[in-house]
Formats: sequence, structure tokens, C-alpha cells
Amino acid sequence: MQFTDLGLSKPILDAVTEQGYDTPTPIQAQAIPAILDGKDVMAAAQTGTGKTAGFTLPILEQLSKGERARPNQARTLILTPTRELAAQVAASVATYGKNLPLRSTVVFGGVKINPQMMQLRKGVDVLVATPGRLLDLYNQKAVRFDSLEVLVLDEADRMLDMGFIHDIRKILSLLPKQRQNLMFSATFSNDIRGLAKGLVNDPVEISVTPRNAAAKSVEQWIYPVDKSRKSALLTHLIHENQWSQVLVFTRTKHGANRLTRHLEGKKIKAAAIHGNKSQNVRTRALADFKNGSIQVLVATDIAARGLDIDQLPHVVNFDLPNVPEDYVHRIGRTGRAGATGEAVSLVSAEEFKQLSDIERLTKKLLERKGIAGFEPTEKLRESRLSERPPGNSARKKPASGSRRRNSNRPARTQSA
Ligand code: AMP
Repeated sequence: MQFTDLGLSKPILDAVTEQGYDTPTPIQAQAIPAILDGKDVMAAAQTGTGKTAGFTLPILEQLSKGERARPNQARTLILTPTRELAAQVAASVATYGKNLPLRSTVVFGGVKINPQMMQLRKGVDVLVATPGRLLDLYNQKAVRFDSLEVLVLDEADRMLDMGFIHDIRKILSLLPKQRQNLMFSATFSNDIRGLAKGLVNDPVEISVTPRNAAAKSVEQWIYPVDKSRKSALLTHLIHENQWSQVLVFTRTKHGANRLTRHLEGKKIKAAAIHGNKSQNVRTRALADFKNGSIQVLVATDIAARGLDIDQLPHVVNFDLPNVPEDYVHRIGRTGRAGATGEAVSLVSAEEFKQLSDIERLTKKLLERKGIAGFEPTEKLRESRLSERPPGNSARKKPASGSRRRNSNRPARTQSA
């Protein structure tokens, strides 16, 4: 597929060509037609997948066909968690929109507000913003959303992680009901699904895993084990293999705390990081982990996001994640930059469904290993790639009778 096949007009295609791109990335190939069709989109995609162009190009296309923005109005609002990302997205909007008569601007905190108010005065077709500063500008009547057409939440998981949920809900309450909603998130945790519920209507769901996500340099296997024996098995593995730096994932904050206490009780230096820990505590735990004074860092998926630790030799999934994409992100923490890594999962019988979901997503069965003394009393079922486990509700298509228009594409498309 080429960019020319996607239904974008010449001014936009010229700008894309100028960047040297001719082939859309998987997220672009899937998101661009859906967005041009006016559909809501919920996409699991990390930075590096080409997601920014995936939403920017079709938005610019649609905006170029409509009426220009009126004074102090924004036609598109793109919310991002950080200034850096806001600036990057705004740069992409400017790059891809350079041949179009559209106005765009970016606003974020930490700099003077007056120049931003001036920028908004004439109205903007695209406004890229961080939540706090946007609300300040709204309160000062610098921006209005009466004719808002499109809302984008970029890196939605990070926004929740950074505590922006109240700001986001407040912003949502200011927007017209009739609009197109696009939500991008590295992962689809329960929190994200909760936010999405009141936000997107019958969305086209897209999931792309970053290239090399399950890179060959990561050796993966599982230990079937009883739930009650997981802590003891982890302790055994750490001692036996003399693991000096291991990142352990748990599904819940409570589980992270409990496991950390258990490890400390076994004289293994461990720390937990999760949403209930202050930024200071998290930063210190990470520094201690990096300098070797902490051997085991126990993290929940959300807390681990954005952790700047490269080339970890060992990642352990103490629990399997409910969202299979999270597994891919977790194991992406090891075996980076050519170094070989090991990703080990402790899987109890009741986690069969999560295991099957992961194996289906990664299109491979995970090798099973056993350790003497830790054989499970409750057997983990054998999995098969063709198998669709019962009760697979999280990944079901929306109910029929939906308001999706003339769609002959599947509601959820995937690329591995
Ligand atoms: P993003 O995931 O949006 O942060 O994009 C990651 C990088 O991929 C950026 O540097 C883009 O300029 C680049 N990029 C976006 N689309 C394409 C494409 N179709 N082909 C090659 N590179 C691309």
C-alpha cells in the first residue's frame, strides 16, 4: 500500500513525500481511512509506530474541506500529557499542513500565557495542548469550543498516569457532544477502557505492536505454578540464577506491595513502584535499582511506563496482564539494543485465558518449563493457537445495531 491509496489530497501527499515517506506504517494504513470516514478510533500504539501522522494527516484532510476557524474557536483539539509531546505533535501538524491554508498552534504551561492568548485570538484549526494550560486559557476566555469537530487524546495512558483525569473530564464537559473522538494509548488497561467508555462511540479499534516488539533477542518461557507458590518460586529463581537486577510485573498495586514485603523478608532488596507511590519515592526507587542497591523492582504496568531503564537482563511476569498488549510492552523491557534478555512468566491455572490471549496476539505458544518442587497441583491447560477461549469479552466486537456507517472493514484490526 502507498500513501496515494489512502484518499489524501495532493497538498498533504506532497508534504508527506517531502518527508521521504511513501509507505504508510500499519497504524497509518488502518487509522487514516477510518478517520477520513468520520469514525471514532481507539488505537493501541506506542511512539515510534507513526501514530502522529496516523491522526494528523486525515484530520488535516477533513479540516481543509470545512469552514475556517472563527475567532477564539478551535476546530480540533489534540491533548497530550507533556510539553515535549505537545511540541512534537505541533511540529508534525505544521509539517504535514504546510501546503494548506490552516492555522495551528500549541499551548502548554511553564511559559507566558499572553502570547498564547494572542495566537488563539484569530481562531485555530488545530490546537495542541496540555490539559492544565488549556483550562487556564479557557477560564480566561481565550479559547472556545463551540465549533470543535475533532478531539484527540494522545498517550491517554500517560495522561492518566500523570494524574490528569480530572482535567480531562473537565475539558470533555466543555466540548460539543457531536464530535469525532480519537484516542491513542500505548496500552489498554482497565483505567483507559473506563475513560474510553464515556468518550468514544462505537470506535474502530486498532492495535499495532511496535516493530521488533517480541524481538528474537528476548527468550520467553513460562513456569506453570500454583498461585500460592509464586512468591516462593520467584525467590528460588532469584537465588538459584543469582539474578542481580530483575524487573517484576504485578497486576495490582496491592500485589506489588505484598510481593515486595515477601522478598524483603527473604533478604532480597526490593522496592515497589505504582500509582500510590509519590513521584519522589518512585524516582528514588528507580535510581536505587539502576545503581544496584535494589535488586528487584516490582512494578505495575502503568508505573513502569516511561521508566527509563534499558537493557534489563531479566523481566518476570509475576501475574500475566489482563490486556495482552501489556505483555508485549513488558517484555520489551528486556533484550534491547542487541543484548539478549529473558522474559519469564509465572502462570497459574486460573490465568489460562490471559495466556491464550497473549499467545494469540504474539502468534506463538510460550514454552513451558518446570522446576522440581514447584510443580502445580492445579494443572494449567494446554493451549493451542487456534483456540478461542470462552468469555473473551475484553476483545469482543461492539454489539450489532451500532451506528457505524457503511463499514465493510472489521471493527478491530490487528497487525503483529
Ligand atoms: P510517531 O510514532 O508518530 O512518534 O512517529 C515515529 C517516527 O516515524 C517519526 O520520526 C516520523 O517522522 C516517522 N514516520 C511517520 N510515518 C512514517 C512513514 N510512513 N514511513 C517512515 N517513517 C515515518
